[in-house]
Amino acid sequence: MSQIIDGKAVAADVRARVAAEVEEFVAAHGVRPGLATVLVGDDPASHVYVRNKRRSSEEVGIASIHHELPAETSQEELAELITTLNEDDAVSGILLQLPVPPQIDGDAMTALVDPLKDVDGLTPVNAGLLMQGGDGLVPCTPRGVMELLRVAGAELRGARAVVVGRSKLVGKPLAALLLAADCTVIHCHSRTRDLATECRGADILIAAAGQPKLINGDMVREGAIVIDVGTNRGDDGKLVGDVDFEAVKEIAGAITPVPGGVGPMTIAMLLSNTVEAARRQVAAREAAAQR
Ligand code: NAD
Repeated sequence: MSQIIDGKAVAADVRARVAAEVEEFVAAHGVRPGLATVLVGDDPASHVYVRNKRRSSEEVGIASIHHELPAETSQEELAELITTLNEDDAVSGILLQLPVPPQIDGDAMTALVDPLKDVDGLTPVNAGLLMQGGDGLVPCTPRGVMELLRVAGAELRGARAVVVGRSKLVGKPLAALLLAADCTVIHCHSRTRDLATECRGADILIAAAGQPKLINGDMVREGAIVIDVGTNRGDDGKLVGDVDFEAVKEIAGAITPVPGGVGPMTIAMLLSNTVEAARRQVAAREAAAQR
């Protein structure tokens, strides 16, 4: 039986830490960090995500600044809002909820966000800094995975880490973080020839493919640490991961459940990124004032 990594408990610790950091920031600077959420259209899942993000930020003392735009909003209108938020000192972080309606280019709009306010870590500047080993803002889910590995006591240096999935949001930044942490990284995706063999070689296996139960018991080495990023809706409406939890928990050394693993970490890291962004903006303003 493996150790079940309790993402809810780890996320609660992160939130408590962030709440203390928020109060320190307020005491030092006299203003509250603020998270601007931008929601375009009426995708029901996006509404739920944004509501959770707003509520969670308020719970740790971050001011929530919400903008809701109709589905027919033009790209120019959205660009104007992002520019206004970039220039607003009360806004520490900007979260553009994706996907956006088809008349809007989500990548182009993401790229407009000031990298210092890019709490999703998705702008080309922050993605580039991550690839170069620089110190930018890092995407929330991959940061959450790294925190779970730390808490689980994973020995990363020299370990063979296999990442399944190569999205901009999860797989790619995660592979970069694991590489920076001195893992030997194998990056798998939908065109990988022999996924099972690659996975069986993993000391650390990260599943982020969005395929229910893609990783079964035969694909996991005894004692491996398995992190399941997948959140898939089953036929019965329940959440299912990318890992066959019941089978793999008998083999893995440690494993995250779905729900209750990576999911709670994503919002916790968003809150952490917002305070970090607020600090960086203060430092940038102070540096500019001295020039
Ligand atoms: P995505 O669809 O953008 O990317 C999926 C990736 O998996 C692709 O790179 C693809 O090549 C790879 N893939 C697909 N099928 C595969 C297969 N059969 N074998 C190997 N690789 C395969 O998805 P994403 O945005 O990276 O999300 C991945 C999963 O993680 C989804 O289930 C998503 O809901 C979940 N997710 C969870 C959180 C969270 O907070 N828990 C956050 C983001 C994403």
